[in-house]
Amino acid sequence: MAEAPRMPIESGCPDPIQYMHPTMRRNYGQWVYHDRPRSGVLHHTSKNNEEVWTVRCGTARQMDVYTIRKLADIADEFADGFVRFTMRSNVEYMVADGAKVEPLIVALIEAGFPVGGTGPSVAMISHTQGWLHCDIPGTDASGIVKSLMDELHEEFTREEMPNRVHMTTSCCQINCGGQGDIALNIQHTKPPKINHDLVANVCERPTVVARCPVAAIRPAMVNGKPTLEVDEKKCICCGACFPPCPPMQINDPEHSKIALWIGGKNSNARSKPSFHKLVASNLPNNPPRWPEVGAVVKNILSVYKDDARDWERMGEWVDRIGWPAFFEKTGLPFTKFHINDWKGARHELNSSAYIRF
Ligand code: SF4
Ligand code: SF4
Repeated sequence: MAEAPRMPIESGCPDPIQYMHPTMRRNYGQWVYHDRPRSGVLHHTSKNNEEVWTVRCGTARQMDVYTIRKLADIADEFADGFVRFTMRSNVEYMVADGAKVEPLIVALIEAGFPVGGTGPSVAMISHTQGWLHCDIPGTDASGIVKSLMDELHEEFTREEMPNRVHMTTSCCQINCGGQGDIALNIQHTKPPKINHDLVANVCERPTVVARCPVAAIRPAMVNGKPTLEVDEKKCICCGACFPPCPPMQINDPEHSKIALWIGGKNSNARSKPSFHKLVASNLPNNPPRWPEVGAVVKNILSVYKDDARDWERMGEWVDRIGWPAFFEKTGLPFTKFHINDWKGARHELNSSAYIRF
C-alpha cells in the first residue's frame, strides 16, 4: 500500500482573512474611500455602503503579558473583539458601529494608550529588534523609541505636522532598519578590538575576511595561534565583521555613538523614494533616556513643522530649501564628516547629473 504523502508543516504567517473583522471580510477589495473623522481614527466606506471605523493607539512595543491581556480585554468590551498589530507597534481596533468609537477611545486613553498616529502626525517610531532578539546590537533601539515617544506623544495624538513623519531606529550599522524621515542609527567610531585567543575557536576566518567591504581584514598569527588583524587605516568601523566573528568586538560603551539621518522615505507619493542623509553624528549613546538624541530630534521636528509647506515630507522640504538652509535653520553644525569621502562614493556621485568621472 502506498504511503500517505507527507504533508507540509505550515509554520509561516497564517492566512489573515480568518482574523479579519466580518465587515472587512465581506467587503474585501470593495472599499471606495476613507476619511479621518479625528486623529487616530480611520473611517472606510465600501461599495456596498458598509462602514468600518479603525481606532489606532500607540504601545511601547515590548509589552508584558498583562498589557497584552488588557489590550485584548478592551477589544472584547469596547470593540467587536477584533484587534491587529501594525508594523509600527500600534494596535488597531475595528468597529462597524460609529457609536462605539468614542467609548473605545475613552477606554484606551484611561488605560494609558495614546490614540493617534494617523495622517500628518509623528507616527510611532519603527525600530529594530535590539537586545531581545539579536546578538549584535550596539544600543537598545526599543529604549530609545520608548523614551523619545514619551516626549513626542502629543505629536502622535494630533495631526499638526506638514505631512506624516516616519522615524526609524536601528541598533547596528549594517543590517535591518529602514529609510526614515528621521533615522536614529548606531554609529561605531573605532575599529573592532580583537580577542586573539578566541578567533581560531569561534570564527571561520575566510568568511570574516570576505565580509569586510574595504578589505581591511587579513589572516595573521599572534602568539603562535591563527587569528585576524585589521588595517585600521582602511577600516570604516561598519561592524560587518562582528556578527560572523564575535571576538572582533566593536560595540563599545563610550565609542559606539548615535547618528541622526533625515529625509528618507519609501513611498512614491509626489516624489520618488529617497535615502536618508547624515545630519548629526557622535551623539552619546546614553541610556536610559538618551536626552541628547531627544533634543536634536525635537529641534529638527520643530523647524520642519514651522518651515515646511503642507504635504512636504522631510526630504522634500530639504530638497526645496537646500542643505545649507537646513543646517542654518536647525543650528546643527556642518562638519567634514558630512562629506561622503569614501572611495566607493564615486559611484554615487556618478548618479548626479552634475559631476561625472
Ligand atoms: S539593526 Fe542590527 S543589531 Fe539591531 S536587530 Fe537588526 S541586525 Fe540586530
Ligand atoms: S568594522 Fe567593517 S571595515 Fe572595519 S574591519 Fe570590520 S568589516 Fe572591515
